[in-house]
Amino acid sequence: MQEDKEHRHPETEAIRTGHHRTAEGEHSEPLFLTSSYVFDNAEQAAARFGGREHGNIYSRTGNPTTRIFEERLAVLEGGERALATASGMSAILAVCMGLLRAGDHIVASQSLFGPTAALLQMLGRFGINTTFVPLDDIDAWRRACTRHTRLLFLETPSNPLSVLGDIAALADIAHAAGAYLAVDNSFCTPILQRPLALGADLVVHSATKYIDGQGRGLGGAVVGSEALITGDIFVFVRTAGPVMSPFNAWIFLKGLETLPLRMEAHSARALALSTWLAGQPLVEEVFYSHLPTHPQYALARAQQSAGGGVLAFRVRGGQKGAFALINASRLMSITANLGDTKTTVTHPATTTHGRLTPEARAAAGVGDELVRISVGLESLDDLKADLEGGFAAARACR
Ligand SMILES: *Cc1c(COP(=O)(O)O)cnc(C)c1O
Repeated sequence: MQEDKEHRHPETEAIRTGHHRTAEGEHSEPLFLTSSYVFDNAEQAAARFGGREHGNIYSRTGNPTTRIFEERLAVLEGGERALATASGMSAILAVCMGLLRAGDHIVASQSLFGPTAALLQMLGRFGINTTFVPLDDIDAWRRACTRHTRLLFLETPSNPLSVLGDIAALADIAHAAGAYLAVDNSFCTPILQRPLALGADLVVHSATKYIDGQGRGLGGAVVGSEALITGDIFVFVRTAGPVMSPFNAWIFLKGLETLPLRMEAHSARALALSTWLAGQPLVEEVFYSHLPTHPQYALARAQQSAGGGVLAFRVRGGQKGAFALINASRLMSITANLGDTKTTVTHPATTTHGRLTPEARAAAGVGDELVRISVGLESLDDLKADLEGGFAAARACR
């Protein structure tokens, strides 16, 4: 165990926290690829199963490598406890299954990751209904709460338009309604934004994105108080089994070590690229929370220490222009994943938001001319050169 933990900075926690060196003296965190654990005797097995003794039983209920990741992430988020899951989606499912029962009501942002919105809608089959409201309309959140509301759920900044939800204000609304506030912090990570300190009860993550940072594996996590996490949320995960594989936990905890550096570098490049894009003749509008022209710039500065790596822009020429730009890319990968060291480019209207009706897409502001970029860690000059080729192609097809 390490001493005076509370005085450490995030950069140090990200590297040091959670590893309790074994008798082998390993310097890098050990990977325990084992499904079960051996007991000294039948009495010990009985004590572990009976909950009278702490310790390993089976990797569905806990694994030493996964616990290193959980401890490290919990400290970074400023939570008492984290629980790792097989994916970001199963982290969100675990929150719902842990906290809610038939008859309960959810208020959620209209601007959610597509499968998250689909999952909440699916819960309707089990008597849990969701009201979707505009992320930045505080009064709409307040009005949507009923005496059955148990959960408020949002992502901030939103994907792809970087609309922000005011976490502190929404925490007050949730608590006045007797509900919990859960924030999906996958885009900012605890390095840029700490929702628990702003009043949220739970943070969920898709570790698949920035926590991994190199596009290798799927994983997720829920972070919050000891009581909330080790209560029905853990019981659901332990019972239903959407646990993180120890191998993925090892990848993610190595990812956490460089997360502070990477988030700073992603954000710096994304801000520089947003500023440059705003000056391009073929660009109609740029969406990035830390551009001074962003309508919620003051909130962005107060709530997030930087803008993160995702930006979007509207290119003249509609879908034809957007496709020409994307297809001309020689460097950026055409893929919907994000948070990678490799820059990725996406046409949201036909991919991530393709299943919405045209009306819902228009309401969400995801037009045919919109392009999203998850800015990686390549040279900014090379990215600009790649986009210049894209603009030339978009110009040629007009
Ligand atoms: C990708 C993503 C998810 C889902 O995570 P998976 O790891 O793919 O299951 C949830 N929320 C946000 C904001 C995401 O970007």
